[in-house]
Parts: sequence; structure tokens; C-alpha cells
Amino acid sequence: MFVDVIVDILASETDKIFEYYAEDVSAGDRVRVPFGNTVKDGVVIRTKQNSDFDPSKIKKVLEKLDEVPALSEECLQLADAISKAYFVSKASALRLFLPAEMRRGTVREKFVKIAEYNAGDVSEALEALKKNAVSQRAALSFMSVQKRFRLTELNAKYGAGAVNGLVQRGLLRVVEEKNFRRPYEAMESGEKKVSLTFDQESVIRDIKETTKCVTLLHGVTGSGKTEVYLNLIKSVLDRGKTAILLVPEISLTPQMLKNLRGRFGDECAILHSSLSPGERFDEWWRLRTGEAKIAVGARSAVFAPLENLGLIVIDEEHDGSYQSESAPRYTTLEVALFRATYNKSKIVLGSATPSVETYKRAMEGEYNFTELKERVNKRPLPQVEIVDMRREVRRGNASVFSSALKAELKSVLENGHQAILFLNQRGYSKSVICTSCGYVPKCEACDVALTYHMEEGALKCHYCNAKYKMIEKCPNCGGEYLRYGGVGTQRVVGELKKLFPAARILRMDRDTAQSKEGHFKILGDFAEKKADILVGTQMIAKGHDFPAVTLVGILDADQSLHFSDYRSGERTFQLITQVAGRSGRAGEAGKVILQTYQPENNVLRLAVKYDYKSFYEHEIALRKATGFPPFTEIIRVLVSSEDDEKAKDALRGIYEKLSEKNIKNPSAFHYFGYMKAPIKKLQNKFRYQILMRVKTPAFKFTVQEVCAGYKMRGVFVSVEVNPQNLT
Ligand code: ADP
Ligand code: ZN
Repeated sequence: MFVDVIVDILASETDKIFEYYAEDVSAGDRVRVPFGNTVKDGVVIRTKQNSDFDPSKIKKVLEKLDEVPALSEECLQLADAISKAYFVSKASALRLFLPAEMRRGTVREKFVKIAEYNAGDVSEALEALKKNAVSQRAALSFMSVQKRFRLTELNAKYGAGAVNGLVQRGLLRVVEEKNFRRPYEAMESGEKKVSLTFDQESVIRDIKETTKCVTLLHGVTGSGKTEVYLNLIKSVLDRGKTAILLVPEISLTPQMLKNLRGRFGDECAILHSSLSPGERFDEWWRLRTGEAKIAVGARSAVFAPLENLGLIVIDEEHDGSYQSESAPRYTTLEVALFRATYNKSKIVLGSATPSVETYKRAMEGEYNFTELKERVNKRPLPQVEIVDMRREVRRGNASVFSSALKAELKSVLENGHQAILFLNQRGYSKSVICTSCGYVPKCEACDVALTYHMEEGALKCHYCNAKYKMIEKCPNCGGEYLRYGGVGTQRVVGELKKLFPAARILRMDRDTAQSKEGHFKILGDFAEKKADILVGTQMIAKGHDFPAVTLVGILDADQSLHFSDYRSGERTFQLITQVAGRSGRAGEAGKVILQTYQPENNVLRLAVKYDYKSFYEHEIALRKATGFPPFTEIIRVLVSSEDDEKAKDALRGIYEKLSEKNIKNPSAFHYFGYMKAPIKKLQNKFRYQILMRVKTPAFKFTVQEVCAGYKMRGVFVSVEVNPQNLT
């Protein structure tokens, strides 16, 4: 038979389907094929009886790579849809569905040898053995009871010689079995049995009964949304179907995994970047073969190889990480919608602070809407106190901590409670400035100020990770007085130690949480009360449930308000709600101190009252008046190149082509212009952008088409729709 194969090469010239001859393969199989003078891997997307080509010229598939097709029919269709919707090659769309380690062939399936009892009556079998073969006799008796045992362990118990003797006599048999590496094995314990609250029951009923595909579950922090998800998943499994649970990368905590493993055991597989390649590979196959029925993971788990999907949950749906920031730039919800349509399954979006787009759809009836208005057991939401930092400065307090926060920290320490301090800047200081000439050290490859990391005595670029030695005096004027601009987590820890020498402090940011252990260890230690204060970046903002935390300090609430981005109000509201939600989750009432230089800011005022509804109304009116999403779509074409002239040429070319469209239909545009990107240079590439706000969503396809036809050597062109980040 003939097969259509997509060969795993990303070059756009080879974005074609190739024909081969094969026996015994099916659609979805990964195969190895001859390609030019080399050998490549590919995926069979179709089998057929006839070919339009001369059959003698068609090459043969060399090898089938897996026992079962790696991709289901649904995944093949979805890959095709993705390559069309996001203008990416078929090969790169397919890559989304296959774990990287599988493509590289670096991980193989792991087999273990199992010894099986292969004799009938044990006393008869023992007769056949010599009286003095003590080990053999013992091993045989043991196996007559055990029936099956790991060979290595049996060897360790009775000696390999004895075991081998039994095998040679045919009294034991050795078989090979696939052995799945299981991540987080040690965590399987402690399932909490809970009976649902009345509100949870009614939310679950509502989601089961709705005829709409998507439900928005708006539930305040600590309202027990996770319990709702787990219940829905359970009933989906009871109906013989499968489920995907998506969470933001950073909230995939040990606690959550423990809950899931406790509840669902081996039926649950985890797809997460912090797993070892071997673990990820095995978890993937457990899902593909149907051994596991629930996939849990960050964004990319939406591609989990499950069949017969009944439910997709997207927890913290507003989180920016659900949008892919590198090609293919897919939106998780769009992929989920495709899968839900294919499988006739449901989608649940959960959040305490839904994105404005999602909430609008729910209010307009496109999505089903349901709410959990109170915390479980009616615990109050923590009280938030706004502290005006301008007044602190006027009173002569120039430190990072307001006097109110100092007092609260003191009382937390005295009472043996815990506190979380949040700020969105890692390192010691955001930048370093020469007080005499104003010089600011910048990265050589990027047009950004360097961040001072005191622990390493280094200046680091947070965009390209380049590291420079800390300067002792200004290289520009020789001035010896350097000022630190903008406080980072390292500095906060330093000042805390001065204030409270006895306090035990942990820090969690990208620098301390590099590895899986780092991340989990810090959270685990804090949960076990091995520390009194946790200082961290947005990594600690969500998901975590620390019962002893009674105080949360938001050190610089203004930081996110300054983003020159239409989402900054929304982000600030979300961040404050999430961080505040970490306080007072158990018995003790919680408190939040929010430090700001603009206490009159409307978003802050609504956030401290947890008034999402008013925030939404204020925000949606603003977006409508100014013509921002969801009333328009922002399209950004980013052009970058190491050659400044080439970048400008490409930019001009694309801009002119798009202008023609603009002239034909000016009313479709709310805004159209080109400029340097906010960061003018990144990793030695000069960056320019064309920004558009358009009223017709389909216009992005035109833009993609124009850009696709504009390829030049050494110039990178990308099209982003409503990007999370406009740097
Ligand atoms: P959310 O995700 O909405 O912020 P969680 O799911 O983390 O809230 O739940 C908050 C806390 O309430 C957790 O400690 C959870 O174990 C507990 N909880 C949830 N549902 C119940 C219930 N029905 N009875 C008792 N405790 C519950
Ligand atoms: Zn850099």
C-alpha cells in the first residue's frame, strides 16, 4: 500500500506531503524513511491503495518506530487545522503532539525482567531439587507463594546462581515487561475525604446540565474550585471517558499532584517540563495506550494523546502562560475548543479573576456561567489595608517596608504564624545608576538595563541571561557612588534579616527555583513550617495553600500598573486577588498589606474590595471607548535581524503591502502604524514592529499571508495576535 508521510523537517521548502510504499502501517504511525541522501523520521497521515506517481520510483518506508500509532485520527486532524490556522508548517504542527525526547529518539522504552513461577505442585518440584541446594529450595518456595517477582530483587535475595539454576530447570520463567517510570511516586498518600458543600454541589450540577460547550466557573480564592474539577473528572471517568486538567506552569505544586495521585492513582499522568525526559516519555505512553485516563499539566498538555475526551479543565484561565509565545503561537482555549468539538466534550474555565474577554462571553451567554461566591466554610476573604508609601517617605521611612508592615510581621513572628512577601523583581536591584553622571550599565547584546545580583556579585541581563562582573565604579566618569534603582527579592531578604535576625526566611524566584527539586523543596519546606517568611516573585502568587499564612505583603503594587499595555489594569487586579488569596486560608483570619505610591488608583481600590464585577464594568467600558480587545484585535508584526538595514527593508516591504489593504478598507482599522519595538535590540537583533488594531478578526490571516510571502535570509518575521507581552 501507499502512504502519505509528513517528514520531520522544519524548513518551509519541504512543507509538503511525501509518498512512500509500506506494508503494515496505519495513519498516525511514526516511521523512518529515506529522504534525499539521508534518513528521516516522519508521521503517516494517510494510507491508500493507489498512487499517482510511477510506482517504481516510490521509495519504501524503512521502519515503523512504535508498536501502536503515536497519533490518533483526532490528533492528525487537529495538527492539520493548526498548521492552517497559525500558518505553520505541517511538521511543526505535528511536533506539538509528540514529546521532544521521542522525536530525538534519545529515550527508549524501559523494560524490566520479571521472574514467574513455572512449576506445578511445589512439593513435587522441590523433590526434583537436591537436598543441599538450600538457596534454590528457598527461592522456589518463595516463588510458589509470590508467583511473580522482579528478577533483580529475587537475585539479590537468593543469589543469581540459584535463580538461574531454577530458570534452567524450567521451574521459573523470565519475562520482559514494560516498566513505566512514575514521577512523584513517593507522594501518593493522604487523600483528604471531603463532602461537597452545597455551593459546590450546585455548581457541579450546573456544569453537568448545561448544553453549552464552555462553562466559566467564577469562584473566589479558596472557594474549592479544585474539588469541583476533581468531582467532574471522576464522573467523566465513570462514564468511560478521559479528561485533561490544565494548570499554569508554576501552580503545578506537589500539593496538587498529591491530591490527584491520592484520588486517581495510576489513572492520572503528569506532563510537565520538570519531569525527566524518561518520565515524560513514559507518562505520555501511558496516556496513549489508555492506561492513564487523566492528563495533568501546563499549556502543552492540551495536546495529550487521549482518546474519547469527556472534559477539559483550564484552571486559572486568565493566566498569560496559556498563550504560546513561540511559534506555533497557539492559544490553549482554541485548541481545547477543537478537541471539545471533535469529542463532543465540555470545557470548564475556572478563575477568581477571569480575563475580561472570557467574562464578556459569559455575560453575553456564549458561555455558561456559574459561581462560587464564598470561601469553603465561609471563611472571610482577608482584609486588605492600603499603605500610602509617599506618606512613609515623608515621615522619613525610606525602607522597603512600611511601618504597618513591620508591625504586622513582628506579630506574625511572635505568634508563630507565617508570612508571604511578594514583589515582582528578582535579583538585588533592578538596575544600577551612577549618581554623578547617570550612567546605567546595559547588556551588550540587548537594549536593556542590567540587574544587579548581589549573591553572585554579577550584573545580569534578564532577557538573554548574559552575566557581567559587577562594576566598582562608573566606567563612564569614574564616579564611585552607585545607586541601586528598584528593589529586588535578594535585597528584601537582606533587609528582613537586619530587621528580624531570628526569623527564618526562604526566597523563591527564578534564581532559586531552577530545578524541580529547588521549586518543590522551597514550597515543601515552607509548608512544613521550616521557615517563617517566604519572599518571592509571581511564582508564589497562585495556587498554593499554606494554612499557617496569616499575612501577605505586596511590596510594590505599582510595578504592574506601569506596563504600557492594555492588560495592565487587568493584570494588577488579578495579581492582587491571587496574592491576597494566599492569606488566611485556614482557621486564622488573614491580613494583606498593599504598599503603593498611588493609593487613589481605581484598579487598586476595587481589587482590595475583591469587587470583580465593578472592575469588569469599569474595564470593559474603557476598552470599548479606546478600541482595545475584546472590541478589536491587536496584531503585531515583529521584524528582527542582526542587520539593521535588512530589518528596516523587510519592515517597509510588509508595511507597504499592508497599507494597500488598509487603503482599500480603512474602516476595518482602529490603528495602523510602524515603529521601533519597545526593546530596540535583543540578543544582537534589531527589532521593529507594525502594530494594528483591527475590527475584523479574520484580518490576521491576511497579515499572515503577507508576512509568509516576505521571507529573507537573516530576517525573522513573526505575527502575534493579542500578545501577552509587547516588549
Ligand atoms: P480554590 O482553587 O478555589 O482557590 P481550593 O480548591 O484550593 O480553592 O480549596 C481551598 C481549600 O478548601 C483547600 O484546602 C481544600 O482542600 C478545601 N476544601 C475544598 N472543598 C472542600 C469541602 N467540600 N469541604 C472541606 N474542605 C474543602
Ligand atoms: Zn542581554
